[in-house]
Amino acid sequence: MTDAPNSQALYERAKKVMPAGNTRHTVYRQPYQVYAAKGDGCRITDVDGTVRIDATGNFTSLIHGYGNPRIREAAIRQIELGTCFGMPTPGEVTLSEMLVERLPAVEQVRYCNSGTEAVMNAIKVARAYTGRRMIAKVEGAYHGTYDPAETSQDASPDSWGDPDAPTPVATARGTPQGVLDDVAIIPFNDIERAERILRAKGNDLAAVLVDVMPNRAGLVPASDAFLAMLRRVTKEMGALLILDEVITFRLGYHGAQGRFGVDPDLTALGKVIGGGFAVGAIAGKADYMSVYDPSGGKAAVQHGGTFSANPVTMMAGIAALEELTPASFEHLESLGDRFAAGATACFQRHGIKAQVTGLGSLRRIHMTDAPLSDFRSLFANPDAVKHVGALARAVFDEGVLMAANGLMAFSTPMTDADIDEILTAFDRALPRLG
Ligand SMILES: *Cc1c(COP(=O)(O)O)cnc(C)c1O
Repeated sequence: MTDAPNSQALYERAKKVMPAGNTRHTVYRQPYQVYAAKGDGCRITDVDGTVRIDATGNFTSLIHGYGNPRIREAAIRQIELGTCFGMPTPGEVTLSEMLVERLPAVEQVRYCNSGTEAVMNAIKVARAYTGRRMIAKVEGAYHGTYDPAETSQDASPDSWGDPDAPTPVATARGTPQGVLDDVAIIPFNDIERAERILRAKGNDLAAVLVDVMPNRAGLVPASDAFLAMLRRVTKEMGALLILDEVITFRLGYHGAQGRFGVDPDLTALGKVIGGGFAVGAIAGKADYMSVYDPSGGKAAVQHGGTFSANPVTMMAGIAALEELTPASFEHLESLGDRFAAGATACFQRHGIKAQVTGLGSLRRIHMTDAPLSDFRSLFANPDAVKHVGALARAVFDEGVLMAANGLMAFSTPMTDADIDEILTAFDRALPRLG
């Protein structure tokens, strides 16, 4: 890594007041963290003046990159009016109307401040509505850090157990066994096994939580048949289907649910819909959302949140959605396709066994040519994970920021030339991997 004295000095200070100098494991890097100073379009300048092209967009949330004029104006105008009030504001009504208009399975919306909270709230709604205790989720899928939702997100061959009945594995040490007992783990895209596991939970199952393209399970799209099974079985069992669109909302104008043709009962949202500010939203059919209704007495689920639906986020979110037109989705799609084709050719040129998964503006690199279908298949080549981390570090030195697990997210200000610049960085970095 090239010398970055200003970052190094910050990191020395940080280590004294933050564990390992860090507050997000996802951005931790050694030997020291590199600190961002400013962003412009699809580029970030660090505190030592080095400019890199940003291929993560703050982990997929900045679909319009930095300094989009419309978003900036909307946020600044609201800051002048007031950043938060102990009253609702008009923006939350407008943003909800826009989400309802776009997402076919969404009739009503409530806000929180993160995707973690959105998933947590969706689970609470499902439990309150059904009066049941269990949820089911896909092995290896990331849904934020609420205890049941994070179960088995980093299961490993020595802990995950029988594929016919995967073991619910705690992510944080000290997670109560009672939490794990209330989570059923299903294998991704394995229709028969997943259906058998769900049916065995009978009247205990409140909801199935699923992401149509779970990043941590490989960023492989769900099959239509798998999603159809989940919809059919949850309906038959009287359980709710929760779609986690925190990341996949950016797959199309009508969200992942539109693109994949799924009709979930509840949808968890976050990231893109806040226009670059902290956000989460729990959305869905009015019947289920009625557990929040306090008009007839105490609501079945309590929900406040000091900064929920804060007006700066709402106004920035409205502007971000206004900028997300059908044409911008076409542009994002072509950027993603250009990257995937270019990266695949690049790996071939260098004789490196690797592949690109994902769709649209979301892509992930895997340093293996073994077929990837689900979380367990990622472990078929244990070195692949290590190698993609090395690739991320190498392209960072070549001027590209990507996630350490190989995830890339493209943004509307990018052009074909920016994608080609990323590919050139790969070309330079690959021979150095050894
Ligand atoms: C990022 C993410 C979350 C959590 O969102 P935060 O805002 O980081 O809490 C949940 N689910 C998925 C699929 C995500 O990608």
